[in-house]
Amino acid sequence: MVILKSPREIDKIRRSNQMVAEILATLKKKVTPGTDTLTLDKMAESLALEKKAVPAFKGYRGFPYSLCASVNDQVVHGFPNRRPLREGDILSLDFGIYYDGYYGDAAVTVSVGRISREAQRLLKVTEEALWLGIRQAVVGNRLSDISHAIQSHVEAAGYSVVRKFVGHGIGRDLHEDPQIPNYGKPGTGVRLKPGMVLAIEPMVNAGGYDVKTLEDGWTAVTTDGSLSAHFEHTIAVTDNGPVVLSVLEEPE
Ligand code: MG
Repeated sequence: MVILKSPREIDKIRRSNQMVAEILATLKKKVTPGTDTLTLDKMAESLALEKKAVPAFKGYRGFPYSLCASVNDQVVHGFPNRRPLREGDILSLDFGIYYDGYYGDAAVTVSVGRISREAQRLLKVTEEALWLGIRQAVVGNRLSDISHAIQSHVEAAGYSVVRKFVGHGIGRDLHEDPQIPNYGKPGTGVRLKPGMVLAIEPMVNAGGYDVKTLEDGWTAVTTDGSLSAHFEHTIAVTDNGPVVLSVLEEPE
């Protein structure tokens, strides 16, 4: 069942997402060759705690870290570790928090130093696909209009959309209905209504869409070893169009 949120609740979800956006912005600045992702994890956790917020992923179904840090062919749910990042890597940072009863969730893929043209293009296409999906999140459209917009853009660029993981509703729970696949025919699924709050998150592989999970039980990697990128925003469907809650607002 899709839970509709009141404007007051959407404001609270915005607050949680603004914290996520702020923390991701801080982490992004720390991503350089030589840094390791466990350092980023600790930083994310302490920044959240400073804000009296709870890192949402730590302990979620047993996930052992606050941050999902997925490098190169890792798709999502990568474990932070002590391996230094290397020039040319791409790194997906996925972070969520719980504050005052509501969740925030967003992800970004960043470059470590200078990256190849091909990696740059993968990041660009994935982020564009996210925004094209968001643009479809309007009252009266159906859920799969979002999915279709994402898939079309990704496949036109010669890449593939991961099937195994999907976006989701978000609010009092981190993962609520509906599930939001990043592929599908347009015009199917639930009709979008004001008050729906959705975390839209395309995961895009440079090669095939198949992924497998490593022995740690979490880290998803591309089966063919190709690079993978991931971008995510939490948005609210409103009568005035989609409102992106996880884009960092300028301080007043
Ligand atoms: Mg998510």
